[in-house]
Amino acid sequence: MNPIITVHPLTNSPTAVWDQLSKTQKSTPLPIQNPSKPVEPGKVRIVCMSDTHSLTNCFKFDVPYGDILIHAGDFTHCGQECEVIKFNDWMKSLPHRYKIVICGNHELSFDMTSAEFHYARSRTKDEPVKDMRDLLTNCIYLEDSAVTLFGLKFYGSPWQPEHGGWAFNLSRGEQCLSKWHLIPDDTDILITHGPPLGQCDKLQENRRAGCVELLATVQKRVKPMYHVFGHIHEGYGMCTDGEVVYVNAATCNVNYMPKNLPIVFDVLLPEGQIKS
Ligand code: 5GP
Ligand code: MN
Ligand code: MN
Repeated sequence: MNPIITVHPLTNSPTAVWDQLSKTQKSTPLPIQNPSKPVEPGKVRIVCMSDTHSLTNCFKFDVPYGDILIHAGDFTHCGQECEVIKFNDWMKSLPHRYKIVICGNHELSFDMTSAEFHYARSRTKDEPVKDMRDLLTNCIYLEDSAVTLFGLKFYGSPWQPEHGGWAFNLSRGEQCLSKWHLIPDDTDILITHGPPLGQCDKLQENRRAGCVELLATVQKRVKPMYHVFGHIHEGYGMCTDGEVVYVNAATCNVNYMPKNLPIVFDVLLPEGQIKS
């Protein structure tokens, strides 16, 4: 039977919770794979990015090739239509067979729970409200939804614990957990904008920003092979708790400079699956 995940009593104090949890569980850094290493037959290459913040013109690196590109949100600065169009054009220019995109807190115009409010902040005066999702024609957009590619199930969710009142912000605890309850048990690769607690979520001075209920959902119920996210730019890198591999693919560093390279990993094709 599935474990029932509940709200942690100290949900609003992630640093204190991780101080406790880190006595019994680990977060081991993993080396970042060299993207020029050829992909082995029978494996799918996945390239992860996040937090590009409309700065794709300023990249000093090439995006490595892979079968699937994942972008874990914050592709714009504030969700303006021109930014979304530019991002969609950039998606088109990339050779990856599939491109999966979710939103982050900077995609103000995508948050339909408060669209008028957020959109008002990002649209030009007197412009009618449009559904920005219609502009993302060159990628697979996920919002509390899944797609299966090569027999692998990818699930994407833009929500994160509130910080600054931007898009897809929810209170820690019950509100966030209600979104994590939507993640299917059989997810192979989970994509969220924000990190779970303790895994690639470190701010300066050892403080933590991840969501404890997301960690519990990932470790106890969903158990994906990989969990890809961004949002906490300082947490860029790859680590593992011994079961799940966590990928913080934030391209921008804490100063919003797009300096971090895309993170690549290869996944064994499920039995009976072929690439062509
Ligand atoms: P962004 O504005 O791009 O979503 O996040 C940029 C930076 O804001 C992060 O790298 C991190 O320094 C800070 N930040 C984002 N969310 C949180 C949060 O929940 N708590 C704290 N303390 N800082 C955050
Ligand atoms: Mn960001
Ligand atoms: Mn963010």
